[in-house]
Amino acid sequence: MTTKHTVTLIPGDGIGPEVIDATRKIIEASGVAIHWEIRHAGASVFKQGIESGVPEETIESIRKNRIVLKGPLETPVGFGEKSANVTLRKLFETFANVRPVSEFEGVPTPYSGRKLDLVVIRENVEDLYAGIEHMQTPDVAQCLKLISRPGCEKIMRYAFEYARMEGRKTVHCATKANIMKLTEGLFKKVFEEVSKDYPDIEANHIIIDNCCHQLVKKPEQFDVIVTTNMNGDIMSDLTSALVGGLGFAPSANIGHNAAIFEAVHGSAPKYAGKNVINPTAAILSGVLMLKYLGELDAAVRIEAAVRKTWASANSKTRDIAGDSISVSTTEFTANVISHLAPAGQPKPRPGRVDTGKIVENLKSSSAVGRVDGADVFVEFKGSASELGAIMERCGESTAMKLKMISNRGTKVYPGRTDTACVDHWRCRFVNRNGKEISDRQIYDLLYRITDAKLKWVHIEKLQLFDGKAGFTKAQGED
Ligand code: NAP
Repeated sequence: MTTKHTVTLIPGDGIGPEVIDATRKIIEASGVAIHWEIRHAGASVFKQGIESGVPEETIESIRKNRIVLKGPLETPVGFGEKSANVTLRKLFETFANVRPVSEFEGVPTPYSGRKLDLVVIRENVEDLYAGIEHMQTPDVAQCLKLISRPGCEKIMRYAFEYARMEGRKTVHCATKANIMKLTEGLFKKVFEEVSKDYPDIEANHIIIDNCCHQLVKKPEQFDVIVTTNMNGDIMSDLTSALVGGLGFAPSANIGHNAAIFEAVHGSAPKYAGKNVINPTAAILSGVLMLKYLGELDAAVRIEAAVRKTWASANSKTRDIAGDSISVSTTEFTANVISHLAPAGQPKPRPGRVDTGKIVENLKSSSAVGRVDGADVFVEFKGSASELGAIMERCGESTAMKLKMISNRGTKVYPGRTDTACVDHWRCRFVNRNGKEISDRQIYDLLYRITDAKLKWVHIEKLQLFDGKAGFTKAQGED
């Protein structure tokens, strides 16, 4: 056997080594020659005191090989602070997380017979997963939701190119743009712009909550769903349950310089070492990897063998068959190998989107920001009217005047509301005379607020981009 590909293999934690071992054995049985470079990440690494959970030699191996097959990684409480999974995805800018699900004959679900076959394409590096969080006051925590135009364009183009490659007809973009108008709204806007370059694919926007409702009610209406990081994380566990559960959901993390293949599920520690879990999700992640490597024949044969194994009686793992009549992980693996057809199947579709074409042609907005005011967030224990009186005085004879104060997003000054106020207030100061606000004028305001013995904890400039507000209004603000 000649070695053709070198792949970084991360066995992972919990059930990881078992599902990865099954995948490796089946790939080897298919005849594809792979040199596996075994590296580690996750719990064992955190325990060595490496806070990222990913040691340098693992990073080096991925940088060199660019392809990773990995088991799930646990984030133990009390060791590193960040998830090693998220670190890997971000370090290698694997911007697209592809999560296909399809029906398996022999795996009964409430949807059996509907021929489900859909793909969630989750943006994989932005959104709340930027992980920028702060306690702003003793009572209030904040997480920044960062969505960028190039980040949106990359994932949209990937989704449409993927749909074309797979001969799929429809792309739905699922967002919460009705509430988060600037972040999820930008995602929707870029979807609408990019969709114009793909007139052969039907493009629909759907609000994420209705998308989940429709997925449970009539999932066969979906083909490709592109969505933001957090939405996609939650929704893809839901879609896995439509076809039998997390044991059936593979994924690919695709970047321009690296690709990481792994099951959607985690390390399921209660089953670790028991030889009872379903390795299908990991094996199908291996199939996605083989497609990416151009090993299309082996990919098609392995997927067919997995399907045949599920379709045959007496070959189901515990998650589907229950404890008494199930086969073990290793028996299931042997059954898949026994069902592998000889090489030389009908020519399958290509399995890799040209990411180079996508990343080389990204556009940034040419808009220029003009500062029109500032939101100053303060910690304050008292009433809205007391704070309002102090802030009105702070703004007197400065370039800005107090427009309103909100608490947790609802306007509470001027006027009266029933809002339950916490110790974190947003005081909105706006331009008094139509001229652009300078940084010095903002510092001047902050000095006055400090002199008034108030503690400001955060500030945001209010900017206009090409004349359009780059900020949202509070609930109840005119
Ligand atoms: P999980 O490990 O995915 O397990 C949740 C449940 O899903 C299991 O208890 C089991 O359900 C079922 N399940 C998962 N994989 C299965 C398989 N291969 N075969 C059969 N059933 C399977 O989720 P978790 O318990 O929330 O997370 C455990 C750890 O994994 C955490 O440390 C988390 O951070 C980590 N995690 C890692 C990744 C990753 O590396 N990509 C992803 C998610 C979570 P039943 O109990 O009903 O049998």
